[in-house]
Amino acid sequence: MSDLTRLSAAELASLMGKREVSAVEVATAHLDRIDAVDERVHAFLHVDRAGALEAAAAVDRGEITGPLAGVPIAVKDVMATKGIPTTAASKILEGWKPPYDATIVERLKAAGMPILGKTNMDEFAMGSSTEYSAYGPSKNPWDLGRIPGGSGGGSAAALAAYEAPLAIGTDTGGSIRQPGAVTGTVGAKPTYGGTSRYGLIAFSSSLDTPGPCGRTVEDTALLHAVIAGHDPRDSTSIPQSVPDVVAAARRGATGDLTGVKLGLVKEFAGDGSEPGVTAAFRESLEALVKLGAEVVEVSCPHFQYALPAYYLIAPSECSSNLARFDGVRYGLRSGDDGSRSLEEVMSLTRDEGFGPEVKRRIILGTYALSSGYYDAYYGQAQKVRTLITRDFQAAFEQVDVLVSPTTPFVAFPFGSRTSDPYQMYLADLFTIPTNLYGGPAISVPCGLSEGLPVGFQIMAPTLADDRMYRVAAALESAVGTFTPPAL
Ligand code: GLN
Repeated sequence: MSDLTRLSAAELASLMGKREVSAVEVATAHLDRIDAVDERVHAFLHVDRAGALEAAAAVDRGEITGPLAGVPIAVKDVMATKGIPTTAASKILEGWKPPYDATIVERLKAAGMPILGKTNMDEFAMGSSTEYSAYGPSKNPWDLGRIPGGSGGGSAAALAAYEAPLAIGTDTGGSIRQPGAVTGTVGAKPTYGGTSRYGLIAFSSSLDTPGPCGRTVEDTALLHAVIAGHDPRDSTSIPQSVPDVVAAARRGATGDLTGVKLGLVKEFAGDGSEPGVTAAFRESLEALVKLGAEVVEVSCPHFQYALPAYYLIAPSECSSNLARFDGVRYGLRSGDDGSRSLEEVMSLTRDEGFGPEVKRRIILGTYALSSGYYDAYYGQAQKVRTLITRDFQAAFEQVDVLVSPTTPFVAFPFGSRTSDPYQMYLADLFTIPTNLYGGPAISVPCGLSEGLPVGFQIMAPTLADDRMYRVAAALESAVGTFTPPAL
C-alpha cells in the first residue's frame, strides 16, 4: 500500500468504502506521521491517539457510514472538544477541558471522522503567523524558518506536512485563507452564519466563521458539506439550506468556465503586493480566461477602509467577549492566596494569562467602545462596514465572483513582522473586506514565488458558496496542486 498520508480525503474515503483499507489503518498512518514530523512542524497542541483510533474502529465496525467516514481530521484549538484540552493557544485556558462539543465537532463525529488532535494558532485567533501562540509557533513545511500563516497556521501546516488530510479553521479576518495561501493548501471561509459558531471560543462574534481546510478543492468541498447547515443553538445561523458545494466543485473540475464573469477589484491594484505574488496571480487569471471566463474590472471604492474598520470592530467585540476570562470560571487563576482582593486576582490573572497581542486588542477595543469615543470609532467603523457591503452588492450586479491574490506576500521569516503590528495586519489586506460583508471566499494555491506558494482568492455573494467552489476547482484543474519539499 502506498503512503496513506499522501492521498486525498476523497481517495481515502473511496478506498475505505471498498474495504481495501481500514479506518484504523488510515488513522494510524496519520498518527505515526504526526509522531515522525510534528516535533519539527509543531502543528498540534494536543494529539488524541486513543480517541482517534476508537472513532476509526467504530467506522470499521460499520457503525457509521457517510462520504467522509474514517477520514481523519485536525481541529483548530479554538473549537470546544468534550474532554479534550481546548486552549485557543492561550495560557489563560491551559488545561481546560470543555464539558461539551462544538456543533461542528459533533457533526464531524456524526460523520465518522476521527479527530487526530487540536491544532496550534495565534492566541484567541488574533494574528497572521502563529507567532502569538502562547505555546510557540508552528512552522511552514515549505521552509521551517518561515511562518505557516495565522491564525490557523497549525491547521494549514498539518495539511502541508501530510499529518492530516483535512482540518477545521476559523476565519474572522482571513485566518483560514491566509494560512492556506502561504502553505499551498486550500481554505474556505463559508458565508457568515452558514457554519455554526456554537462551541467556538468567540473572538469577534459578528465576523467569526468556521470553515474547511484541505489539500484539494474537492476535499474542502466535501468537508464543507459535512459541517455546514442550520444550527438552532447559534442565533446567527442561517436557516436556508446549503448550496451543493460538492457538485459545484466537480463541475468546476471539468475545466469549463464559459460565461463566468470574474471581477478584478480596481482598488486592489498598486496595493503593495510582492511582484512574485502579482505575477502568479496574473498568470492564473489568464489560465481562467483560457477556460472561458471573462475578466471585468470593477470598482469597490470603500475597500481601502476595510483594514482600519476591521481593526476597530474586531478588537471592540473581542474586548467584550474576552471579559469572561477572569480567573473565576475557567482555566488560570493567579495570586489567589488569600492576600488579595477579588479584583486584584482578576487583574493578575488577566495580566499573566493573556499575551501581548490579545492585550493590545482588548485595550484598543475598550477605548473604541468607551463613552465619548464610541460614535467616532466603533460607530464610524460600522458605517464603513455598510459601505463595503454596498460595494460588494454593486460589484455582484456586474460579475459572478471577485478575484484577488489572497495575501500580499508569501510566507515570511519568523520575527520579521512582530515588531510592528501594522506590518502583521497587512497580511489581511485582501481577506478582510469579505468578512465585513459576510460573503464566502476561498483561497486556492495558484503558483510559486521564489519557491514559496501563492494563493488565489475567489469571493462570492452571500449564500453562493457553490459559485466559488466551481471557479476554484477550475483553477486547480488548470494549475495543479503544489507539493512542499520532503520533511
Ligand atoms: N489576522 C487577522 C487578525 O489578526 C485575522 C484573524 C482571524 O481571522 N481569526 O485579526
